[in-house]
Amino acid sequence: MQAALVVRSSTGFDFEISFVDIPTIGSSEILVQLSATGVCGTDMALASGEVGPTCQILGHEGIGRVVQVGESVPAGDIQINDRVGIAWLRDICGKCAYCLHPGGETRCAEQLNSGRKINGTFAEYAVVPARYIIRIPDHVKTSDEALAPILCGGVTAYKALRVCGAAGGQWVAVLGAAGGVGAFAIQYARSMGLRVLAIDAGESKGQYCLQLGAEAYVDVLGADSVADQAATITGRRSISAALVIAGSAKGYQTALEILGPFGTLVCVGIPPPHELVSFHPLLFIDKGIKIIGSAVGTREDIIDAIEFVERGLVKADIVPVRLSDMPRIAKEFGEITGKYVIKYDVHGQLQL
Ligand SMILES: [Zn+2]
Ligand SMILES: [Zn+2]
Repeated sequence: MQAALVVRSSTGFDFEISFVDIPTIGSSEILVQLSATGVCGTDMALASGEVGPTCQILGHEGIGRVVQVGESVPAGDIQINDRVGIAWLRDICGKCAYCLHPGGETRCAEQLNSGRKINGTFAEYAVVPARYIIRIPDHVKTSDEALAPILCGGVTAYKALRVCGAAGGQWVAVLGAAGGVGAFAIQYARSMGLRVLAIDAGESKGQYCLQLGAEAYVDVLGADSVADQAATITGRRSISAALVIAGSAKGYQTALEILGPFGTLVCVGIPPPHELVSFHPLLFIDKGIKIIGSAVGTREDIIDAIEFVERGLVKADIVPVRLSDMPRIAKEFGEITGKYVIKYDVHGQLQL
């Protein structure tokens, strides 16, 4: 099968397109032939090696079809040709304190992640444990390419909004609004009846955010302070929740400055390990502010996030590419708006 393998050198990292063996499955696993996969910012962070060891095949926004089922998978559980998703979470233990907590599976202490301990979706085939399947419901007619980015970028935005505590009609600030996850956050927020204040750097990004449904935009490079501009825009109602998507300490600092009374700071973006955020606890005591972290979403969250796409309320801004484009994508990642989605050629059924 064709695969994009990450290769690192003293000057950085690159992707090398190679042919490798199609993986063999264990008795409780399934083999998925991929038809599309998104490229996520986390893939670039993993490729750089800065966040620890990885597999050679990254990628965690895949959609494909089941082509082989292990012999001990109960009959009827999963069928050949079922449409499935392959996301960041690939397996969970099902018994740790996180797994036992409702909705806690994304924090499983023993979790397997795509590209970390198990090969990801930058290849034509991938192996999934039958007990942790993301089955795309039959009524979903959205194309594989349009669904792929929901598996990480989309569900990350959706889940952050689900936990942010803001109700319809209230203001939500999205910091890093013009990036892949930010663009989803704007659309999901709008679809949930929230008012979106998009925050990012540069005037051109403002146009993009407003087109996606943001009600107002604040340019962090502008002359006035972000807090002053936000206060003018939202007026008496103030900001009920701030989603920090772009992972910088500065973004977190700004979010704390603009939050209104009883607001919630939702941590999504991950700053580099040495970047800390400083605050005085009185801010939380006086204003009743809460801080929560949000990480991707459960299998149920993914299906919920997909329903918005199926209903036409949220749409990924796709930049279609081929697997062979990975070396170029690695160089220009972050310079364009929109989501790179790799489309694979699927020539009939694999004979195994
Ligand atoms: Zn991701
Ligand atoms: Zn667990």
